[in-house]
Amino acid sequence: MSVIGENIAEIKKDILQNAKKTGRAAEDVVLIAVTKTVEADKMNEAIREGITDIGENKVQEVLRKYDEVEKNVRWHLIGSLQSNKVKYIIDKVDLIHSLDRISLAKEIDKRAGENGKIMDCLVQVNISQEDSKHGIAKEDVVEFIRTVSSNYKNIRILGLMGMASFTEEPEETRAYFKQLKDISIQIEGMNMESVKMEYLSMGMSNDYRIAIQEGSNMVRIGTAIFGERNYES
Ligand SMILES: *Cc1c(COP(=O)(O)O)cnc(C)c1O
Repeated sequence: MSVIGENIAEIKKDILQNAKKTGRAAEDVVLIAVTKTVEADKMNEAIREGITDIGENKVQEVLRKYDEVEKNVRWHLIGSLQSNKVKYIIDKVDLIHSLDRISLAKEIDKRAGENGKIMDCLVQVNISQEDSKHGIAKEDVVEFIRTVSSNYKNIRILGLMGMASFTEEPEETRAYFKQLKDISIQIEGMNMESVKMEYLSMGMSNDYRIAIQEGSNMVRIGTAIFGERNYES
């Protein structure tokens, strides 16, 4: 087995163990292989080793590699998304994890409409507060989702996405993940149209075990699969 294959097998074992702790099965947690800066041949290797979902943080990378990557995968846009680039990926990605402002919702709604599709999105929440650039503040999430739900009919909100900052102690990270889970429960209880808290996208290479213990069912993992690389984001 290749190194990538071994890494994936190792992670899947961890996912199973940690899912079990919360009474779930391994299949209840989606493993997204984050492939930023990874070339298409390595992505296809990961797909051969069982990866079904891939995540990119930049539109250019999706466009550059899209045609070279095996067709039977789901694409996730996990990085911050500029409104003027929505048109390039609207027909390519299956889930946008970074919906975090009304102007972006408006553009996604428009482009989805033109493409005759309903775009599935997660709302990015700024749980750790440190990276204040991205994500909706916790106290604004409900209002934001209410606005999207009532105004943008070509968007379906399927959950929340959050990131804990790298420097946190594991136990502090846990508290952030708990908060995101709590918000998702609150929103689910509001029964808004086209809003379903099906996914909680939280957990990366360094903290996915804790995230799963706290209810994550979508983990975004790059380094632990493909090794260290330079991230420019
Ligand atoms: C890069 C990235 C990841 C994966 O990070 P690793 O530490 O390499 O696992 C997850 N989510 C987002 C939004 C990213 O940009």
